[in-house]
Amino acid sequence: MAGAYREETRPKAIAQGTKIPIPVAENQAMGDSRSMNPTIPQGMLEPARHVPVARETDVLVCGGGPAGIAAAFTAARAGARVLILERHPFLGGVWTAGALTILIDTEHKDGLNREIRRRLEKRGAATYCGLWPDWPVYGLEAMKALLDEMVEETGVEVQYYTTVAAVAREGRRISGVFTESKSGREFVRAKVIIDATGDGDVAAQAGCEFKLGRPGDGKTQPMTLYGRIGGYTGGPVHVQPLLDIAINAGVQPSYGDVTLFPQPGQPGVFLLMATHLYGNALDVRDLTRAEMQGRAEIRKLVDLYRRHAGPDWKNVYLIDTGPFLGVRESRRILGRHYLTVEELKAGKTFEDGICHVRFIADIHHPDPSEGSGLTHVFFPAYDIPYRCLIARDVDNLMMAGRCISGDHIAFASYRVTGDAIAMGEAAGVAAALCVKHGIDPDDVHRPELLAELAKMRTTEWTSPAC
Ligand SMILES: Cc1cc2nc3c(=O)[nH]c(=O)nc-3n(C[C@H](O)[C@H](O)[C@H](O)COP(=O)(O)OP(=O)(O)OC[C@H]3O[C@@H](n4cnc5c(N)ncnc54)[C@H](O)[C@@H]3O)c2cc1C
Repeated sequence: MAGAYREETRPKAIAQGTKIPIPVAENQAMGDSRSMNPTIPQGMLEPARHVPVARETDVLVCGGGPAGIAAAFTAARAGARVLILERHPFLGGVWTAGALTILIDTEHKDGLNREIRRRLEKRGAATYCGLWPDWPVYGLEAMKALLDEMVEETGVEVQYYTTVAAVAREGRRISGVFTESKSGREFVRAKVIIDATGDGDVAAQAGCEFKLGRPGDGKTQPMTLYGRIGGYTGGPVHVQPLLDIAINAGVQPSYGDVTLFPQPGQPGVFLLMATHLYGNALDVRDLTRAEMQGRAEIRKLVDLYRRHAGPDWKNVYLIDTGPFLGVRESRRILGRHYLTVEELKAGKTFEDGICHVRFIADIHHPDPSEGSGLTHVFFPAYDIPYRCLIARDVDNLMMAGRCISGDHIAFASYRVTGDAIAMGEAAGVAAALCVKHGIDPDDVHRPELLAELAKMRTTEWTSPAC
């Protein structure tokens, strides 16, 4: 893990296709451990090759998490031709791949936030627990199905199993992205690109400067792997009792606020949140170790609770873990505005505010020596300005979701999914306006953007039966 925790920036562009081996410094800037291992050769020259142009689109959304789906559905509803590239075989990001389960900061928002909540509720796939009366706990499979349906309804094109691996940068613009999939390496051309990969992969590949981790030591919030259990006969919840039971049995869960979330419509099925997995989410070796540690810890805890946690647990079994490690924090790409904790403390509003955030900051301790829980920082409600979504270093690139431009603490507040949706909506409307007028995101007339966004959010897009 040497070199994994450093506050760092990556200012320089790497021109795609140049015959230059990746220098060691580049590996370090990506937070990668390769360059720290003296036994591994520093680099190999990859031969240039012809890459077919597989697809063309107006708006390309990279990553189909809460921000990406919102950007894509909204841009399509605003009339643009849209393609989503997603590395998983389903949409939802942390919603589905990470199994996170509750929709935070969705309650006072209209638009897609309201639509998704309402549609989950209508199909019995949302439930409200005493602890979080305003935030629905949703069914994972129902979320996957709903997002697939919305793809059909909005006419968005989707390509699963596709990782965005590189970009073609020409001056201050990106003409498209290179993808890796079972179809090989391909090129997708686009006019406007939205980086909704969570990790800011596209912007980083384009050479955009970014921040990683907290100031000082560059440490990031830990990752979490969930476990799905069946056969549990108690209610939702949690925390102190489950923590105490584990500690009394001689096991300290890596995450102190052990919690159980129900799966609506699936009696006895709950998601167990009990792990804090430390490492750099941009380092595949840290990810590999974290997955294995997380699985081992969940197996151990489920076994322990079955034996020690009383009658509600006696028939509990582990259905599965994952599907995928949930990454809380990685790159924050620099935009045309950098949202700071001071602005949050001041409850700042902006003329180009596109998302009103009411959530506090949840900072899971970036270092296990600081405890196994999290710090809450309280703020008045504040706005995210549109400029945080526009890449500073590339003219036709926007970010949406957790990789937008802001500091470590501000990020810890706006990273939740209600706000990711709202950011995606704004990026989607802006992208559609860019296509319509033949302009770049920073040239979008702000009053037109805000008016279109408000219209988009107040339109009923589906019949009440949906
Ligand atoms: C463990 C955990 C628990 C959380 N709990 C909650 C909670 O209870 N409620 C809440 O509201 N928020 C919660 N959050 C925060 C929230 O889930 C995320 O901040 C939110 O999902 C961010 O949305 P996003 O769309 O920016 O990113 P993501 O959800 O990470 O989605 C990014 C998408 O991009 C795809 N992708 C990434 N790289 C590539 C690539 N190179 N090529 C193609 N596709 C790519 C990914 O597969 C993914 O689908 C939690 C986060 C974690 C990790």
